[in-house]
Amino acid sequence: MLFEADLHTHTIASGHAYSTVKELAEAAEKQGLKMIAITDHGPKMPGGPHEYHFGNLVALPRKIGGVEILRGVEANIIDVDGNLDLPERLLEELDIVLAGFHTGTGFDNRPAEDYTRAVLAAIANPRVHLIVHPGNPDFPVDIEKLVLAAAREHKALEINNNSFSISRQGSLPRCQLLAKLAHKHKVQVVVNSDAHIFSSVGNFARAWQVARSAGISEDQVINKTAGRVKEYLGWHRRRGQALQEAETYNGRTSQEKSEVI
Ligand SMILES: [Zn+2]
Ligand SMILES: [Zn+2]
Repeated sequence: MLFEADLHTHTIASGHAYSTVKELAEAAEKQGLKMIAITDHGPKMPGGPHEYHFGNLVALPRKIGGVEILRGVEANIIDVDGNLDLPERLLEELDIVLAGFHTGTGFDNRPAEDYTRAVLAAIANPRVHLIVHPGNPDFPVDIEKLVLAAAREHKALEINNNSFSISRQGSLPRCQLLAKLAHKHKVQVVVNSDAHIFSSVGNFARAWQVARSAGISEDQVINKTAGRVKEYLGWHRRRGQALQEAETYNGRTSQEKSEVI
């Protein structure tokens, strides 16, 4: 296996996926993966889990067999301000937060500008680690603006293998453009399976092909190694905390500030 981690997988909790955590982990081990993220859909997805599902992910073991398990979500971006369908306190507890647009979650059929505005706000949210399937033509964000925002925020963008097979028809040219611009602006990418069944775990050959054809090297792919994933997530956690502390500090009166000093 060329890559050690698959950062986008779904269990039966998503409502339209067909395997358990254990089945995904076992399949990952067989594939030679060292890490998977369990990223079920956010609560606004029809048939998706209640927010309790995410609060209780602490129940998952850190490792199943030889595979490290990250606790995550694929949250829905639900408005032009880039809000997600999970409260901050839950996002904060998760190892990894993916965010993207999905039909049926109350944010369909808007003008392209709305999706661009929403995705730019979501990528600036320190809790969000990865914008998923941004090449989806059903939510036609401005790809160049998104890539530039990813560069500014030191965030990665996903190339989703499912976009070239069973979902999101018409994604290929937009993903090729995204990969080309990511290469140009040195934005990191993640190639993910978006597995909804155990047999798809670790299957991102086509996503990698799209990335590689655009000139992206393995060094630019976060999920190349589990260590690189941890470094990326750790960096963003520290950055999020620093931003939060600065915000709290700036929100204080000058009297309170002098007391802190
Ligand atoms: Zn999705
Ligand atoms: Zn997904």
